[in-house]
Amino acid sequence: MPGPSQYRSPHPRHTPEAASDYPSLVIRNVHLPFESDDPTLADPLYNVYCVGSRVDRVELATPHGSRSVSHGSSGHNSPARHPEYHHSSPPGGSAHGGRAAGSPRQGHAELDAQGRGILLPALCHAHIHLDKCFLLDQCDELVTGNFSEALRVTAKAKSTFPTNTEDLYDRGRKLIAQSIECGVTLMRAHIEVDETVHFACVDTGLRLRKLFRDICHIQIAAFAQDPLFASASDDRPGLNHALLQSAVRRHGVEAVGSAPYVEPSIAHAKRNIELIFDIAFEAGIHVDFHLDYNLEPTAEPLIWYVLEQLRQRIQSGRWRHGCHVCIGHATRLTLFSPEEWAAVRAAIVDERLPISLVGLPPSDLYMMGRGFEYAPRGTLNVPKLATEYGLRVAMAVNNVENAFTPQGPVDPLGLCPLGVAVFQAGTKTDCRSLLEAVTNNARLAIGGFHKGSPSISLTPAPGAIADFVLLHDNDSLHSAVLNPSFSRTTIRHGTVVARRIQQSWILPQKTPSPDPIPPE
Ligand SMILES: [Zn+2]
Repeated sequence: MPGPSQYRSPHPRHTPEAASDYPSLVIRNVHLPFESDDPTLADPLYNVYCVGSRVDRVELATPHGSRSVSHGSSGHNSPARHPEYHHSSPPGGSAHGGRAAGSPRQGHAELDAQGRGILLPALCHAHIHLDKCFLLDQCDELVTGNFSEALRVTAKAKSTFPTNTEDLYDRGRKLIAQSIECGVTLMRAHIEVDETVHFACVDTGLRLRKLFRDICHIQIAAFAQDPLFASASDDRPGLNHALLQSAVRRHGVEAVGSAPYVEPSIAHAKRNIELIFDIAFEAGIHVDFHLDYNLEPTAEPLIWYVLEQLRQRIQSGRWRHGCHVCIGHATRLTLFSPEEWAAVRAAIVDERLPISLVGLPPSDLYMMGRGFEYAPRGTLNVPKLATEYGLRVAMAVNNVENAFTPQGPVDPLGLCPLGVAVFQAGTKTDCRSLLEAVTNNARLAIGGFHKGSPSISLTPAPGAIADFVLLHDNDSLHSAVLNPSFSRTTIRHGTVVARRIQQSWILPQKTPSPDPIPPE
């Protein structure tokens, strides 16, 4: 069976954007996620040409679609099919993409999917904790598994962070590397700032941001998991607030966030929200709240207060144009009536307030509804909210191997088959919604689309940033969502930046001789 050593070694290199109209990367013979009910678009194979960091054009690979391409068998006995990736050069160039003397053309890379695989937008972590990942083995053993226990054992583990920053760095690096291998090229990393860790986590996160800057954009979100008010009797914020104000002045911090539910009262929670908006305005950065993380019908949903604050601040000029508010968890909203959802839609879709919801299914499902006789589906129903209210809700992983979420991998695409089961949503329309939730909606939620970008689409559009994940063992969007391929190639800004290939082996079996025919 062929192994990775049989690939021609990829040596991605950067081509200056707009230096030439010659493609810097051609992705050949791939499926694209066009609407499958259009028979002219569903089946053929395409070539995608990237120039610099953007998509230049998309062409049909063959005049007769995929019929001219051999797919082979996907059974156990057929050899694994691997894409070819190599550099070529224009006539007169050197063998490794060198440039002919005097020629304006540069060598380019080619990624040939050979008729297998679908090219999707790159994945995006809209919400992931960089400092608390892979922490289970440093925490006291979980007994109840509930939220207060998670807070307690994590706080204890956190107390060692400032004296062990290399461990912080190594765990964060592992999370980012695994994410890129999955197909992530953009993430918002929440990093705690408080009296316990001071700036140890944020400074480590900024080191990691720099380390990976050429292959993945890491938005650092300075995050107050702990209360900004030291006690219920305080009407002024304490040291945690001052530390957060200081943290956002560091270059590379692009968002500020908090968890208002940890404050001692609802009044303090609302003050927490105001203080975070103030910090964001002063620093010119995005806002990100862990909000309405409960399933209590009697709990006041603070989404209304956030919407009101945002509206007032935009009207009074205390909001920076281009910044975006992200609301994580929002499990309380699963109890909303149609009228309440219509009000959310009116604010986000009709009024166009810059705010997005991000469901965090691995954490929401693990933590919510404990003590209920029947466990509810306590996480935002992404396909239903898309269909019924036109809301673009994102899904994100949130935590990996810690007390808040002990289970599951770092792969955002893994949330899609989970969503199919949890929401009982496996139609092609549902699957598109689920895929949008970990690609375009996630990017939208963290302000990752800029003004002037082409319209948001699952298919490559000329002028769009060339960030993709190629799923080698899926040929359709439906298949990619129901059972995502392990083998993937990650492309960022028109350059191949990661590859993950499944290897397997099975003991060869002798063909059994036919059973003897028993005598009559
Ligand atoms: Zn979180």
